[in-house]
Order: sequence, then C-alpha cells, then structure tokens
Amino acid sequence: MNIILLGAPGSGKGSTSEQLISRKGMTQLSTGDLFRKNIAEKTALGLEAQKFMNAGKYVPDEITNGMVEDYLQTNHDNLVFDGFPRTRAQAEALDKMLEKLGTKIDKVIYLHVDEEVLFDRLTGRLICPKCKRSYHKITRKPQVEWICDFDGAELVTRPDDAPDKIATRIDEYNNLTATLINFYQAHGKLVILDVNGLSVEAIYFDIEEVLN
Ligand code: AMP
Repeated sequence: MNIILLGAPGSGKGSTSEQLISRKGMTQLSTGDLFRKNIAEKTALGLEAQKFMNAGKYVPDEITNGMVEDYLQTNHDNLVFDGFPRTRAQAEALDKMLEKLGTKIDKVIYLHVDEEVLFDRLTGRLICPKCKRSYHKITRKPQVEWICDFDGAELVTRPDDAPDKIATRIDEYNNLTATLINFYQAHGKLVILDVNGLSVEAIYFDIEEVLN
C-alpha cells in the first residue's frame, strides 16, 4: 500500500511519517530529505535544488520528478510520500510512474492545521540531523536542551525555517499545492483529517482507522 501525506509546511507530515515507519514498517519518501542529502553531498542536483530551497521556493518539477523516478526504480511499495507531490504536474507524473511499475497510490491523507499555528510550529522547530526527528523549542522540548532524545545528536534549525522563508513556503503551498486536495478528492482517494491540537500518536491512530 502507498499513501501520500498532504498538508502545509508544519502540518506534521514528517512526524506522522515517523509513526508510520516505526509502527507499520512503512518507508518514507521525503523529497525535502532527498534534496537535503544531495545538498550535504554537494551533488549537481543538490547544488541546483539549494538555490530554490534557500529562497523558500519549490524546486522545478522536472528536477523533482526525475529524482523521485530514480528512487522508485528500487523501491515502490509500502511508501509514505511526504512532501511529494506538491504540484498538479507532479501528481500526474507520479500516477504515470507508478502505473509503469504496476502499482498506485491507495490513499491520500490531508492533514489540516489552521494557518496561524503553522508559523509558530516552524519558527520553533528543531531537527535531529541524524534521525530526522523533530522537536519544538517550547511545545516539544528534548529532555536535554538541543540534544536528540533518541541518538544524542545535536539538534539544528533548518535554514528555510527562518520567518521570511516560512512566509514564502506557505504562499507556495497555497498557490501550488492546496489544489491537490481537489485533485485527489476527484480521484476518490482523499481523506481529510483535522489534526489541530492532536498529538502525533492521536494522529497515527486516526490514520490507522482510515487505512483499516
Ligand atoms: P520539506 O522538507 O518537505 O519541507 O521541503 C523543503 C523544501 O524542499 C521545500 O520548501 C522545497 O524548496 C523543496 N521541495 C521538497 N519537496 C518538493 C517538491 N515535491 N517539489 C518542489 N520542491 C520541493
């Protein structure tokens, strides 16, 4: 089974993916993480993507789709798509890629969070560079300040979580991604979850109910 987590930046797609990995053995395909890995390794793709990411803008569809298509050649089942697709062209390309591989998207779960909450979540976000778990400076503090509870790595902030970048990212989402809610509704695959104020565990149990 393959699922897409759809939602604005800061809606909890990454934390929800973590739950689906640890409790259901799914594999996360996060295009943001793949780009960050390429940036860290200074690949040509990473250097190109970095220009857009640093500005809070989307990486062009051809680059993003190409990277996903490569990934899917080795792994295309039991996936949680986190942060992909983000445009209509990506959604259509994904359907074609999966069809060629004899598989498909089964469900699209839209995590709805009120927009005023997103900004606070992102400006306070801390990330473990090793295991990718996320924390929050005020609402989800690690046990030891700036240290990951799970692997002891020093937490970092994401450069695109700076306030001016967040505004651009939310605009990109509203202009280019929100339309995918209608796209997947028309395909009969959409499930809307209002996750305002819910813990990551509560969100997971809601999703489990939907998937069962
Ligand atoms: P994320 O980690 O999902 O928040 O993504 C971080 C950044 O990576 C985004 O703001 C974009 O610049 C870029 N990115 C990730 N996924 C995509 C995508 N599907 N399409 C275009 N750009 C993306």
